[in-house]
Amino acid sequence: MNEKRLLPAVDRVLQQLSEAIEIHGRQLVTGCVRAELAAAREGLKHGLPLPDEANLLAAIRRRADEAGRANLRAVFNLTGTVLHTNLGRAQLAEEAIAAMVDAARSPCALEYDLASGGRGDRDDLVSGLLAELIAGGSPDIAATIVNNNAAAVLLTLNALAQGKEAVVSRGELVEIGGAFRIPDVMRRAQVKLHEIGTTNRTHAKDFQEAINPKTALLMKIHTSNYAVTGFTAAVDEKIIAEIAHVAGLPFVIDLGSGTLCDFAAQGLPAEPTPQQALAAGADIVTFSGDKLLGGPQAGLIVGRKDLIAKIKKNPLKRALRVGKTTLAALEATLRLYRDPDRLAQRLPTLRLLTRPVAEITVLAERVLPAVQAAIGTQASVTVEACSSQIGSGALPVERLPSAALVVRPHAKKAGKFLLTVEAAFRSLPMPVIGYIRDDAYHLDLRCLEAEGEARFVAQLQYLKI
Ligand SMILES: *Cc1c(COP(=O)(O)O)cnc(C)c1O
Repeated sequence: MNEKRLLPAVDRVLQQLSEAIEIHGRQLVTGCVRAELAAAREGLKHGLPLPDEANLLAAIRRRADEAGRANLRAVFNLTGTVLHTNLGRAQLAEEAIAAMVDAARSPCALEYDLASGGRGDRDDLVSGLLAELIAGGSPDIAATIVNNNAAAVLLTLNALAQGKEAVVSRGELVEIGGAFRIPDVMRRAQVKLHEIGTTNRTHAKDFQEAINPKTALLMKIHTSNYAVTGFTAAVDEKIIAEIAHVAGLPFVIDLGSGTLCDFAAQGLPAEPTPQQALAAGADIVTFSGDKLLGGPQAGLIVGRKDLIAKIKKNPLKRALRVGKTTLAALEATLRLYRDPDRLAQRLPTLRLLTRPVAEITVLAERVLPAVQAAIGTQASVTVEACSSQIGSGALPVERLPSAALVVRPHAKKAGKFLLTVEAAFRSLPMPVIGYIRDDAYHLDLRCLEAEGEARFVAQLQYLKI
């Protein structure tokens, strides 16, 4: 039998796909038609029946939709980790989103001084704001912005200590998310790491005795993703600063997360701030833009004007600098900190972290019936107390009380079923990311807000278990 005659011609199929062509373009849809016809031909060879026309068209549309879908997709983060590095960390404030869109859409005065008509400096867009928010507007404080905090640490070390030594306590030689390890970063920055003290205890005299003619700076790294407890001693920042300054050396603190707001006043566990670090005598602080600050991915280097000037002159700065959309979002985010009263409403990171457990529980009760209906009879869905974490290394041992929808299979040894449930949620039009723990699938609803709720419920009709 000549199977070729059984299959329709590409052109004839395309005539019935005008809507898909409108969405995806003729070239992409033609490719999908060819691929589906080839698959049908292959099927025929193996004795499979010819797909009927409706099925063939549906398969082509599915293929085109899949090919036309963005690779970077919005998801529901119901993992219980608010600042999830793999899910893009901070959600931006509407003000930051609007500023990014404006900067993307039109030419903007990125490095242009509108007053003089001369050349400007992109760091000036946020440098004054940061001095205002962190150091009471001190004219001796400036800032420079790079791609992320890892870049901030690398650049700072290279600019201030290349070919020399940086003194760090052994208790602070951190590894962050795989590829960022302080000893490696030091090597890449061409700085010799001078380790002092022990894993659990470091004393002031360790710093004093470490200083030699090759010392370029003293450094403290916030142990953001672990806690050393028990018989421990760390040197107070004020004392390290004093030791550094007596020796004429700068004191650098890598804060990691660095929120600008008083977490304790928001009912959250206290987190060190750049304000405190500078007040304690640090000459430079570095922190991330997309952790607790709640802004775009960026690394902020803030501190003494003369040191910042030196850092900015380093050629690595040019390689690590950020673009206009990042600066637009960062500036807009920082501006929100000028109004602490409304910060928790406007800044999603803070809003999500301070969300009352009672509110999350009510939400969970409300969506439970829809989730139970979508799951079917193989498992029961209940609302249970759970604990969210802040994520991205911030406050590693603290937990925030929250509420989860928990899917518990009726059958024993239902590991495979749980994986099916997890995959089914991940396959929804807007993928839902939960977690499996204690033989149950959990959806921590802390990060499901009002706009998301309707969409979350509406798409449950597509859940295939
Ligand atoms: C997160 C973190 C970094 C890395 O910051 P990125 O913005 O992810 O590059 C560096 N140091 C500390 C202490 C951190 O917590």
